[in-house]
Amino acid sequence: ATPTSIMVGTGRAAELGVLFRKGDALQMLQETGTVALDKTGTLTAGRPELTDIITCEGLDENDVLHLVAAAEHSSEHPIASAIVKAAEKRGMTLPRPDKFNSLTGFGVSAVVQGHDVLVGADRLMQREGINLEQLSGKASALATRGKTPLYVAIDGKIAAVIAVSDPIKETSPHAIQTLQALGLNIVMITGDNQKTANAIANELGIDSVVAEVLPEGKVRALEDLRKSASGKLAFVGDGINDAPALAAADVGIAIGTGTDVAIEAADVVLMAGDLNGVVNAFHISQQTMRNIR
Ligand code: ADP
Ligand code: MG
Repeated sequence: ATPTSIMVGTGRAAELGVLFRKGDALQMLQETGTVALDKTGTLTAGRPELTDIITCEGLDENDVLHLVAAAEHSSEHPIASAIVKAAEKRGMTLPRPDKFNSLTGFGVSAVVQGHDVLVGADRLMQREGINLEQLSGKASALATRGKTPLYVAIDGKIAAVIAVSDPIKETSPHAIQTLQALGLNIVMITGDNQKTANAIANELGIDSVVAEVLPEGKVRALEDLRKSASGKLAFVGDGINDAPALAAADVGIAIGTGTDVAIEAADVVLMAGDLNGVVNAFHISQQTMRNIR
């Protein structure tokens, strides 16, 4: 590509809210065969809401929510915000936990009013030796509907399963279809559980899913994809967790409404919060490279 055509391409892209931070990204996109996308905040809105609370027999829904929300109060995860918001909506005032631990990629543990409270993914409960049998069927049913089930253990015993639901961005399905029509192989990468991820992917027409990836595992997931992928590999993400993967991909594309850390690690930044920017980036790359040949 000539420097002039690259300049024209980057200029046109900027007009559409697609900022190329590196000129060679325009060329790299043309050679891209696979686009991997983060789920939460990229394909979905990233603002989950609490939808279900299923308690074990004898436990009151509000008592459980009260403890859980108190435990989640200091967590910065969007799941925590959903839970705290739900508790506030019910008029609860939340006690300050005596102890709090954020277990990245797993959940939280806290001591609230003398009770040990654990909230998080099944892998957290397994790690802590909590028997999930009583509620695993319910959790599985929630996940099959695209919701994220979280287990709650109180004083070392399973107490409830709660679910949060994060809606798919309105623009995502069409953007994914368009990328697929360009011949790109689309892959979803997420820390969320496999069943939930599959349900969301299914709604989006994505048939390749890598789920239950720990935050530090996204780069490894990309390296695995690279082995099987033909052409260059692009990654689209928005979160702090996504920064290493954005840097590791051939083309890192950050959602501009995401975190600064992600934006700084990216080759391409989308000014709008949706995936139409990814489509625009590919179109402009094609037009630019076509002009050159
Ligand atoms: P993602 O951003 O893709 O959802 P994370 O690594 O942030 O991935 O989280 C993975 C999983 O860990 C979540 O789906 C959830 O089950 C659990 N988890 C993480 N943080 C929390 C939290 N604050 N409360 C409850 N569960 C959590
Ligand atoms: Mg995200």
